[in-house]
Amino acid sequence: MSIDLLKNYIAGRFVPSASREVLDVENPATGETIARVPLSTPDEVDRAVAAANEAFPAWSATPVARRCELLFKLADRIRSETENLARLVTAENGKSLPDSRAEVKRALENTEVACGMPVLQQGDKLVGAAADIDGEVLRLPLGAFGMIAPFNFPMMVPFWFFPYALATGNTYVMKPSEQVPLSMGRVAELIDEVGFPPGVFNLVHGARTAAERMTEHPGLKGISFVGTSRVGKIVAAKCVETGKRFQALGSAKNHLVAMPDAKLEPMIRNMVTSCYGCAGQRCMASSAIVAVGEANYREVCERFVETSKEVIVADPLDPAVAGEAMVMGPVISAKAKQFILDMIRAGIDEGATLALDGRDREKGTGTSCAKHPPGRSGKRCLSPFPEQGHFLGPTVFTDVKPGMTIHRTEIFGPVVVILRADSLDEAIRIVNEHEYGNGASIYTQNGHYARRFKLETLCGMIGVNVGIPAPVAPLPFGGMKTSLLADVKAQGRAVIDFYTDKKIITERYWAEEE
Ligand code: NAD
Repeated sequence: MSIDLLKNYIAGRFVPSASREVLDVENPATGETIARVPLSTPDEVDRAVAAANEAFPAWSATPVARRCELLFKLADRIRSETENLARLVTAENGKSLPDSRAEVKRALENTEVACGMPVLQQGDKLVGAAADIDGEVLRLPLGAFGMIAPFNFPMMVPFWFFPYALATGNTYVMKPSEQVPLSMGRVAELIDEVGFPPGVFNLVHGARTAAERMTEHPGLKGISFVGTSRVGKIVAAKCVETGKRFQALGSAKNHLVAMPDAKLEPMIRNMVTSCYGCAGQRCMASSAIVAVGEANYREVCERFVETSKEVIVADPLDPAVAGEAMVMGPVISAKAKQFILDMIRAGIDEGATLALDGRDREKGTGTSCAKHPPGRSGKRCLSPFPEQGHFLGPTVFTDVKPGMTIHRTEIFGPVVVILRADSLDEAIRIVNEHEYGNGASIYTQNGHYARRFKLETLCGMIGVNVGIPAPVAPLPFGGMKTSLLADVKAQGRAVIDFYTDKKIITERYWAEEE
């Protein structure tokens, strides 16, 4: 089977990169190479930026309804290709098919919200701001923008940004993650097919070198970055230095607070879905549970560990697991798996209790067998998960203290830490003292507890009995503290502000002489 070397999409043409540096794109579930991605050179970024700037005058002068007509067409193509796109996301990222379908759906939703730009981009007018003077706010596009994307949502995260940029009249240079370049490569083909003018949307494959050229390039008006806070800080500093707008959404450690009055069984199922979906590699995945009260802590630990064992660890494209509710695929790479293994070792060394060990595929701990349906007992047989690929089973630490390495660090894998707190005050303090503040949820039936949690928790996205409080497309998406490195969120109106300049007009006309 021949393996494609991916092309860049610049000025309306798919062009091979001249770079000699090429990476294999791997299906993390099988270890198979499914494509090869060039690490584009700074020159190639320059060409994409030049194309975007050349396209800007005509595109920004194109009526907004026409710009949205093309986005409607793109939405139609995505809708009719949902299954193909979802399979592509799963093949390159390893998440389950239901997760990939949900990802494509959210990308679609963002495109549809951006189609509302004829209303959303309207400015304001204040008649009579002073004597005979009117004030007016115009929302104008600025030029060419860029995006640097992470590996964990190959398709959804880019759609938090570029449909809004295009709808508002800006042009674009997209750099997907070098680990998962296929989904956005297919989106570039759809963009080409629906007839966006050349240069309005450009795609450059690559890694650090290409990204760095984007952040320093004087031809880009702004950068949207999503990835680790470590790289986000570098991007932010470079954008400040070069006078660009920037938004940078970073790392996370999302807490779930279990109050003693919560509905135990639905809460535990909801927590399991939140912690192990996408093998714990969602930016909104929970990886720390805080149980309030000693008896509640013991019950939560026991039920969470038992329910974690029901997760099926398998290649998500294996037909045997089609239709299963809780399928967990591999983590993204051998490097990511090694980091997670190092973190598990750190947890053991620091004295936390390893209540469920997902490292050993032979023991089958935490792994249900996908091939043999539950017997009469209703229990699955346990069996090893696939040998190929970067699999790990659900792993749970109990007796975890705030500040331990496994609590401080974003592990980004199926490793969950459970802490105890004596009160809601202490639980909120644990969440608030953490470096990251992306999301947090409380499980309770008590409105007073929930209200305090909503108001006092220093996180950007809060759930009440919802384990993944990821906002829908019309609402802003973004955290607090080190999880968000500029006060500019993704999606909806927040990103429309980022992509438009609010120009303020103050105007007066003198009366003609009678
Ligand atoms: P990463 O920081 O390793 O890479 C992100 C992007 O930055 C990639 O495209 C990469 O090529 C590029 N890059 C690498 N070095 C660079 C440099 N020096 N300058 C500029 N760009 C550079 O992140 P990742 O591992 O791909 O993604 C996972 C991370 O993303 C996790 O921390 C996760 O929490 C975070 N994330 C956050 C959100 C959010 O909403 N806060 C959403 C999704 C993912």
